[in-house]
Amino acid sequence: MSVETLDIKEAARGEEIVSYDPATGEALGRVPLLRVEAVVRAVQAARAAQKDWAARSFRERGRIVLAARGIVLKELEEIAALIHRESGKPAAEAISMELVPTLDLMQFFARKSVRLLKPERVGIGQYSLMGRSSKIIYKPLGVIGIISPWNFPWAIPMGEVVMALMAGNAVVLKPSELTPLIGLKIGEVFRRAGLPEGLLQVVTGDGSTGAALVEAGVDKIMFTGSVATGKRVAEMAARRLMPVVLELGGKDPMIVMDDADVERAAHAAVWGAFANSGQACASVERCYVQSRVAQKFINRIVELTRGLKQSAILEEEPDIGSMSSERQLEVVEQHVQDALSHNARALTGGRRKEGAGGWFYEPTVLVDVDHSMKVMRDETFGPVLPVMTFETEDEAIRLANDSVFGLTASVWTKNISRGRHMAEQIQAGTVMVNEVLYTHGIAQAPWGGVKESGLGHTHGRLGLLELVQPVHVHVNRMTILRDFWWFNYTPRAAQLFRGFARRFATGNPLQTSLLLPSMIRRYFERRS
Ligand code: NDP
Repeated sequence: MSVETLDIKEAARGEEIVSYDPATGEALGRVPLLRVEAVVRAVQAARAAQKDWAARSFRERGRIVLAARGIVLKELEEIAALIHRESGKPAAEAISMELVPTLDLMQFFARKSVRLLKPERVGIGQYSLMGRSSKIIYKPLGVIGIISPWNFPWAIPMGEVVMALMAGNAVVLKPSELTPLIGLKIGEVFRRAGLPEGLLQVVTGDGSTGAALVEAGVDKIMFTGSVATGKRVAEMAARRLMPVVLELGGKDPMIVMDDADVERAAHAAVWGAFANSGQACASVERCYVQSRVAQKFINRIVELTRGLKQSAILEEEPDIGSMSSERQLEVVEQHVQDALSHNARALTGGRRKEGAGGWFYEPTVLVDVDHSMKVMRDETFGPVLPVMTFETEDEAIRLANDSVFGLTASVWTKNISRGRHMAEQIQAGTVMVNEVLYTHGIAQAPWGGVKESGLGHTHGRLGLLELVQPVHVHVNRMTILRDFWWFNYTPRAAQLFRGFARRFATGNPLQTSLLLPSMIRRYFERRS
C-alpha cells in the first residue's frame, strides 16, 4: 500500500453531503460521503505511513505539532468564524471553549509526551534480589480511528489527533456529518505543518462512514457521541476484540449548598447550562439548591438569564447562538413540554426564539421539577436549567447519584473539606468543587465518564496511555542459576515450594532468607 492521503473527492465517486449553517440554513459547502472501500483504503494508507512516524523522536513529532499550533494561532479568527458558521455557536465562545484549550493542549503534549511516556522501572520486590529487573515501555498502537461529534467539532477531534500523533500513531478521523468542514480544516492544518503524507486521514461522511471506520481494521477507536451509538460501536469493536474509548452523554448535576457563594454559583449555573446552547456533554443539566438559599439563587439565575443576548450575528457578540441541528432542538422541546405537562414552570424561555431563522431555543429556567420528568432523567443537550430544592446533604448526594449517567458533577460550598467529602461520594468521572463545565479544557487532567457516560479516558497521562501499548520487559541478569521452580518437581523441590508459600510470599526478605539452606540443597540436587 502506498503512503498517500486519500483523495476523498475521487474516493467518494460523486456521493456528497451538504454542510449547513444552522443559524441561517445557508449551505456552506459539499463534502464527499465515503463508503466502506474508501475508508479501508484510508486506514491502509495511514498504516503504511505510521511505521516511519513511530521511528521518529518525540522532539520531531512535537516540532510538527507546534508548527500546526502556529498555523492555528495565525488563523485564529478564520477558524473561529468557521466553527461559528458550521456549529451555530458564538465566535467568542469558539475561541474560549475550543481554540484556547486546544492551543494549550498542543503545547502540552508536544513538549511533555516524552516524559509522560518515558519507560518506567517497576519495583518487583524480592525478585530483584535474584538479579531480575522489570520495565514498562510504551509502544504506539498503530492506527487510531477517531469518531467525533458536532458539539465541540474542533476541540474534541483536535485534542485526540494531537495525542494520538504524539504517541506515534497514525490517525483516521471521521468528523460528524453536521461539521465536516471543521474536520477537514484539522487535516489541512497538519498537512501545511509538514505532517508526513498519509499519516492523518480525514474521512467525511455520515453514520455509515463511522461504522465503516470501526470495521476497517484500525487498532483502537476513540469514540465521542451518544450512548446509543457508543453501544453500537462497542458491540462492533467487541467482535474484533478491538479496544475502544467511549466518551458519551451526561446529565450532570450541580449541587448548591446553603453556605455557597450564591452570587458566584448563580453565574456559574447560567454559564454551565447555556454555554454552547447547552450542547456540552458536561453542561449543567440538573441543579439542586438547598432550600434556605433556593429563592435567592433562583431569582438571580432568572435575572441573569434574562440579560443574555441570543443572536446569529457574529458582530453582535451574542452570549448564545443557535443550536446545531433541528433534531437536537426537537429533543429539547420534548423535554420541556413533558416537564410543563407535569406541572413544572418555565420562569424564562420554554419555547423556540421567535423571528430567528435557524434553530434557536430560548434559554429556559424550569422549577417545580422532579425525577419523574425527562428533563431530570434523560440528556436534554440544550439551553435548559431545571432547578430542584433539597433539605440535607445526604438528600443532595442521593439525587445527584440517581442517574444512569456519571460524567461530571459540581458541589458549591465555601467549606472546602465538606466539598471534597461530598465529591468523593458522587458517582462521576470528574467532580468539581466551586467550578463547572470547563475541565475538558485542562489538557493535563484526565477526562472520562462512569456508568453510561463512558469507558476509558482522554486527556492527561491516563488519556495518553489509552493510545499506546504498554509492554513489560523483564530481564534476568543472574544467568548462572536455573530457576528453582523449573522442572523437575522432586520431593525436595515440593518442600521448597511450600517454604516459598510460607516465607517468600510474605514479602519479607528476612523470612525468605530462612529458605537459603533449602535453596542450596535444591541447587546441588540439580547438579547431581
Ligand atoms: P452521535 O452518537 O449521533 O454521533 C457521534 C459520532 O458517531 C458522529 O461522528 C456520527 O456520525 C458517528 N456515528 C453515527 N452512527 C454511527 C455508527 N453506527 N457507527 C459509528 N459511528 C457512528 O452523537 P452526536 O454527534 O449527536 O453527539 C452528541 C452526543 O455526544 C451527546 O450525547 C453528548 O453528551 C456526547 N458527547 C460526549 C462527550 C464526552 O466527552 N463524554 C463530549 C461531547 C459530546 P454522523 O454525525 O455523521 O452521523
